[in-house]
Amino acid sequence: MERPAIIHKLASEQRTPPHWTDFEAERRVDVWGLARRALQGLPGGGLNMGFEAVDRHAGGVLRDRIALRFVARNTPALDLSYGQLAQQTNRFANVLQDLGVNKGDRLFVLAGRMPELYVAVLGALKNGTVVTPLFSAFGPEPIATRIRLGAGQVLVTTDALYRRKVKQIREQMSSLRHVLLVAEDGGITNEPGTLDWHTLMALAPDTFSTVATQPDDPALLHFTSGTTGTPKGALHVHGAVVTHFATGRYALDLHPDDRYWCTADPGWVTGTSYGIIAPLLQGVTSLIDREEFDAERWYTLLEQEQISVWYTAPTAIRMLMKAGTELARRHSYPALRFVASVGEPLNPEAVWWGQEALGLPIHDNWWQTETGGIMIANTPAFDIKPGSMGRPLPGIEAFIVEHLEAEGEPPRVRIIDTPNVEGELALRSGWPSMFRGYLNNEARYRQCFAGDLYLTGDLARVDADGYYWFVGRADDVIKSAGHLIGPFEVESVLMEHPAVAEAGVIGKPDAMVGEVVKAFVSLKDGYQPSEGLRMDISAHARKRLGAAVAPKEIAFLPSLPRTRSGKIMRRLLKARELGLPEGDTSTLEGGA
Ligand code: AMP
Repeated sequence: MERPAIIHKLASEQRTPPHWTDFEAERRVDVWGLARRALQGLPGGGLNMGFEAVDRHAGGVLRDRIALRFVARNTPALDLSYGQLAQQTNRFANVLQDLGVNKGDRLFVLAGRMPELYVAVLGALKNGTVVTPLFSAFGPEPIATRIRLGAGQVLVTTDALYRRKVKQIREQMSSLRHVLLVAEDGGITNEPGTLDWHTLMALAPDTFSTVATQPDDPALLHFTSGTTGTPKGALHVHGAVVTHFATGRYALDLHPDDRYWCTADPGWVTGTSYGIIAPLLQGVTSLIDREEFDAERWYTLLEQEQISVWYTAPTAIRMLMKAGTELARRHSYPALRFVASVGEPLNPEAVWWGQEALGLPIHDNWWQTETGGIMIANTPAFDIKPGSMGRPLPGIEAFIVEHLEAEGEPPRVRIIDTPNVEGELALRSGWPSMFRGYLNNEARYRQCFAGDLYLTGDLARVDADGYYWFVGRADDVIKSAGHLIGPFEVESVLMEHPAVAEAGVIGKPDAMVGEVVKAFVSLKDGYQPSEGLRMDISAHARKRLGAAVAPKEIAFLPSLPRTRSGKIMRRLLKARELGLPEGDTSTLEGGA
């Protein structure tokens, strides 16, 4: 069906007046200054993310408002008010103090979406301890790599995850001083070499003075993947809370009486910035569903929990579309007024589907681990062009640039002034949630900047109306179900298998999850390709990497294409897989 290229929006037609409507006027405002002044700051000066998210409300009129509402199958919902969350996070900050864990120390959380994860993250922030949430579907290898790289001193996890994924690799993480276990059955754990969360929490006082962090003190460490080498630890500071606050209004249009649901897992950056921090900053009630995706369940939750603002992702939307519009229409969503999506390209069809199934279009927005918060968005304030990521938010300046040299150091770029020309998406540095470094990798950090422009690694174009359109990644990282996967991490684990001589990993386009991880392997002498061997390599990868990261497909090749300098040419593997032109193969070892 032919669809119009624009969905027009009138502020006057919206039930709740949006926080902003005039794009040009708002861009002239000092948004960061305004956001900073709306926050409270610490009593003796300083700024702390956990304090602003929780204690600012717990000490005011929102004290008894439900902050977090946890739902799961076969168990009653569990509500935590802002006041209760303040007490719980105080207890945890006291636990950390008692253990000698202080400001600047590093804590990792490996857990499903359970209350203790949220308490641990926010309590650690109040203690000035730097937090890294890990995805609970990671296998032992990604967990150990990240804790080692981050020199984590404390790990909070569950007894079951500890036994399945951590115990056997514990000695590889020599920095770990304390492991705190939450018993999944609600009881007490007595695993040797660990501490029991509930026992420690019960003994800890529920008052705490937030540690005096400054805006530039580190708060969160989020791991993200690059094309080569180990994952990169992007360091974020407490001052990022200013962006979280502003974007919670500008991009998600949160108002204090909203009931909000972010479907992202806190093991990924969206689930932390917009699943924990941003909604709490606005004093809303956040729904947290502890179950996995289920179309019928999700519609029921949207209806019964009277969700008014919903932030989800393209893979989930495509799965809902697959389940059929009819299923969506069996429910009604009178409370729902704003739906947004992030993480991968959202095709125009999905934007329109929202209109048909939920009665609202879906607002795509763009950001990445390094930016710490939403940068480009479709918002309630202006018309949507389905298929576009929207326009830069107030306070953000975006550009399309071209590189003047292929691999210059430092990079040199030129801003492309002509609309609709593809190039790399760049942002003028200086927004409060910009990452402040890759842990122990200053050189890699410097490569991200050309003067004061931060280079995102994404290819895009901007049209004459200032709307940005995603084109693709400039590198080989893989986006599967919204999760960024580094091919190198997967290749390294495949190479550990005794039969594998070389491995090259690509993202193969997939209608549902965007891309699936596909591996090409060549075998060592003495091994022959067989279905049995393929299954064995696959099982090895799943065991070490976890189901979320392991390849879904493995193909055997006699040898892999390499450059003359010895790098596997993933680009060529991908072109061959997709039957696309092979492009420039002049660097191919042995010629094309
Ligand atoms: P991550 O750092 O894991 O959040 O992944 C960030 C990357 O996801 C970006 O650099 C983009 O490649 C991709 N991404 C995020 N949002 C969008 C979007 N709205 N459209 C297309 N790609 C997106």
